[in-house]
Amino acid sequence: MIVRSMEEIQQMIPGSELVNGADITISGVSTDTRKIEKNNLFVPLVGDNFNGHRFVNTALENGAGALLWARSEGEYPADTAVLLVDNTLEAMQQLAKSYLQQLSVKVVGVTGSNGKTTTKDMIEAILSTTYKVLKTEGNFNNHIGLPLTVFRLEGDTDIAILEMGMSARGEIELLSKIGTPEVAVITNIGESHLLDLGSRDGIAEAKLEIVKGLQQDGVLIYNGDEPLLTSRVPAMNLKTVTVGEGKELDYYPVSIEQNSSETKFVISKDDDLIFTMPVLGKHNVHNALTAIAVGEQFNIPFETIAKGLKNLHLTNMRMEMVKGKDGLSIINDAYNASPTSMKAAIQLVQDLDGFKQKVVVLGDMLELGEDENQFHYEVGASLDPNKIDYVFVYGPLSQYLAQGAKQVFPENRVLYFDDKELLAEKLASVVHPEDLVLIKASRGMKLEEIISNLMK
Ligand code: ATP
Ligand code: MG
Repeated sequence: MIVRSMEEIQQMIPGSELVNGADITISGVSTDTRKIEKNNLFVPLVGDNFNGHRFVNTALENGAGALLWARSEGEYPADTAVLLVDNTLEAMQQLAKSYLQQLSVKVVGVTGSNGKTTTKDMIEAILSTTYKVLKTEGNFNNHIGLPLTVFRLEGDTDIAILEMGMSARGEIELLSKIGTPEVAVITNIGESHLLDLGSRDGIAEAKLEIVKGLQQDGVLIYNGDEPLLTSRVPAMNLKTVTVGEGKELDYYPVSIEQNSSETKFVISKDDDLIFTMPVLGKHNVHNALTAIAVGEQFNIPFETIAKGLKNLHLTNMRMEMVKGKDGLSIINDAYNASPTSMKAAIQLVQDLDGFKQKVVVLGDMLELGEDENQFHYEVGASLDPNKIDYVFVYGPLSQYLAQGAKQVFPENRVLYFDDKELLAEKLASVVHPEDLVLIKASRGMKLEEIISNLMK
């Protein structure tokens, strides 16, 4: 963060009142007393089960130079630079917005149900060939993480790539209005948070809130294969770029080839150039098309974009191919699961050749709302018995997945378990070193325990 005096910070938060320390200078903002650095402004947040105001002394001992303080919390520490506000979270969000407005940095905002972090990493790989770029670290994509990311911006950053996550209506609007992006991205509309938003329509509306903060001449890059978006966006009168499979879209792949370590593809806009990237799955080609479209918005030539993608490093290797016992190939995707991401992972397994047997181990997808049984059934019924040898299934909801799979597979190739250890034992007796195993379920199912069993 560029250094600001407390007097300047007071002016950046309308309605705030400085009770001490106008000359104190601040070079960062923190909400966490354990990670606070010297000359940080400490923002005490208030939640259901915690109140940061109780920890201001620790923050000060650890180096905080000044504090925000909610008026409703009463007595504030004496002889300390304190800025009184009505609500510390809202004040921090306002400060981030004001800070961003003072910089000449351009913002790319990335939302969507699946692929935000992946696409963000791809955009960074491309833009950083040419610009000084800052991106959201890890998953700091919410109403707290996004402002904290903004405070990490320095004066010489050209472009900030901000991931915008949500679990309810209004959240993306808030984030977009803080970030005021030049380029807004919606990766796709899936089923995550169906429980909170009621329907896929509701999810689409929520993601489209990203245009609420879009700059006047800003551009929306979105998935043109999604009817819930193509039916809404044209009426919004925006500059848009569409990405997906459809031949009528601005960016679509004309060919895709993948082996066990990389994907090569050619795009409609430049069929002389082969893009190569060290990640797998058709869904990742879609994420890459989106990132390429962002690169083009910032006038980066396709050759340079291709170099950037080749050097891609993902935040957290999702759908990573790992080697198990005796060289067994395992795709570890036990990090999260929704029907969309489950189908993307299954598609990858079906597309990959060169294995003796292909086995999928699938567990419950959580938080899908009232149609959860149906979602599980459909995933099971979508499996291709010509491309997958065995379907291992674990978890109460996945009984429906097994039922769906049995519509298309012989009964003896669908194995249902309600006990992870039994599943792991049976799996170990079925797989050989030349096989490919996919492991995927929601985080809460802890399916990674099975992976450790396949490693030893
Ligand atoms: P979160 O909501 O946890 O922040 P995210 O939107 O950032 O998720 P990623 O972390 O990039 O998403 O990817 C999570 C998983 O979603 C991947 O492991 C993959 O299975 C799946 N996925 C990624 N991109 C797509 C896509 N374009 N379509 C469908 N599934 C995808
Ligand atoms: Mg993410």
